[in-house]
Amino acid sequence: MSTSVIAMGVALFLVINLVVGLAALSLLFGTFETIFGKPKLTLLRATKSGNYFAFGFKWNSAKEPMAIDVIRLRLFNPWGTPTQVEMAKSFEVKRSSFATEIEMGPAFIDLLGAKNFDLALVQVEVSSSRDGVNFSFEMKGPKFRRLVEGANLTVAEFLSQHKLDVIKGSKSPIDIPMRSFIADTVPGRGPMLKVATNPVFAGDFSAAPAAAGAAGVPAAANFKVAKVWIEPGCIVCNACEDIYKDVFEVTATTCLIRPGAPLDDGLRVQEAAEACPVEVIKYTIAS
Ligand code: SF4
Repeated sequence: MSTSVIAMGVALFLVINLVVGLAALSLLFGTFETIFGKPKLTLLRATKSGNYFAFGFKWNSAKEPMAIDVIRLRLFNPWGTPTQVEMAKSFEVKRSSFATEIEMGPAFIDLLGAKNFDLALVQVEVSSSRDGVNFSFEMKGPKFRRLVEGANLTVAEFLSQHKLDVIKGSKSPIDIPMRSFIADTVPGRGPMLKVATNPVFAGDFSAAPAAAGAAGVPAAANFKVAKVWIEPGCIVCNACEDIYKDVFEVTATTCLIRPGAPLDDGLRVQEAAEACPVEVIKYTIAS
């Protein structure tokens, strides 16, 4: 075999190795990006009293610029009481990875002490009210309790470990009211949801009129609205527009009443006002 053929064989072998090596490296970095590039929530040890919630949130702010400013905790507890709890607090805007400690109020203690908490689901949502971005982390009650009560790192230690800037102040500029929904717990026989399609509970729903409210409560009479307006403090959550977009228009910074909005469906206006987490939707009933 001539020397040139051997040299070509060696060159070809090296080129193939190079291509395979590069492909493997790019796959590896792609996997790293997928695994480690995702926003990450870490529950931390609160240094203040028991209703403080401490957490760290890391994301690639160069790749995904955002103004994070709301933490929301939700409890879904169909097999205990309260059935559902939602609490949210806004805080100073953070534009890069951060850690903070927020006072959630007494409802946080109630959440941890809810009956049948171990069967419940807890959702921690870190969001940007300005950019309309939400990052949601869900876990079972026992895991949430374990992470909260077993957290080792404090906010200061987390910031120092990740070489993050200390951002002073965790005082909430807006207190968003806590909402709690209490209903009867589902009766025995294991964790089953009381829904109309569940044959175990079919009898409970058979007499319910189709168009009326739940459990046979007659539908409320509608009414006309004389005036509807938005007071300062809207956090642009979009709830009102989702409910009644003919009336409410949510912009990047606030909510507006559309010119010429229909005012004859008072029940929907009322529903939007009740859904507003900061209770800034006001209206008067036409006489
Ligand atoms: S529901 Fe309330 S806070 Fe949300 S966008 Fe409408 S007015 Fe603003």
